[in-house]
Amino acid sequence: MKKPEKRLIVGNWKMNPQSASEAKKIAKTARQAAAGLSKSTVVICPPFVFLTGASSRSEAPNFHLGAQSLSFHESGAHTGEVSAGMLKDLGAEYAIIGHSETRQAGDTDENVSKRLRMALDAGLKPILCVGEKVRDDSGSQFDFLREQIKGSLAGTSNNDAKDLILAYEPVWAIGAKEPMKPEDIREMAIFVKKVFSDIFGGDSGLKVPVLYGGAVNFRNAADIIQVGQVDGLLVGRESVSISGFAELLKAVDEA
Ligand code: PEP
Repeated sequence: MKKPEKRLIVGNWKMNPQSASEAKKIAKTARQAAAGLSKSTVVICPPFVFLTGASSRSEAPNFHLGAQSLSFHESGAHTGEVSAGMLKDLGAEYAIIGHSETRQAGDTDENVSKRLRMALDAGLKPILCVGEKVRDDSGSQFDFLREQIKGSLAGTSNNDAKDLILAYEPVWAIGAKEPMKPEDIREMAIFVKKVFSDIFGGDSGLKVPVLYGGAVNFRNAADIIQVGQVDGLLVGRESVSISGFAELLKAVDEA
């Protein structure tokens, strides 16, 4: 697999932190750390309410904002929902779609595919999360992943392939102590690209950036990038650790 020229590091803050002032602090440190990188693009995905506070007029050109999800409706009577257009207007450029925690809460492949369509239509870059719940010797994870990717991409056409980002996140590794072994990550990243190619044809599978997510921290990140040969990382807990995320970014950029 060709080494990526640019690495994409995405921080998923989940439902953290608990105050706007803390959110500003975390965002500022990430922005400053991003400014010192030469081959990485950094995206932070704070909760919706902190998006405005996390942006800055003096942004580093490689620093961007993303949302953690979005509505599959465009507008109207959908209490509590936030649309792709609203997020774009607030300065978001990326959106995590189909995270395992939202799938766990009931999000289906069909809904994920509608959210993906909304993101694309609003000009947001979707980061589509996929991953198996269990991994066994019979290889059931491969069939599961193929079906999940197909179902989640149901609303897309060949023209959309260039705008998509895939995040491979084995559910059992999210929130865990240890990530998947980098050698196994490499195998799964190749598989995910192959499925993507089968859907979109041509060499689009080779071009789609594949990120790995699940228990990434500043100690293991460089190894995952180098041995796992992924195009970037989706980072949960470590992305709200002020010093941890800055160290992680440096380690990945130097890897
Ligand atoms: C995530 O939320 O996508 C994630 C990978 O979490 P963590 O890094 O905390 O395992």
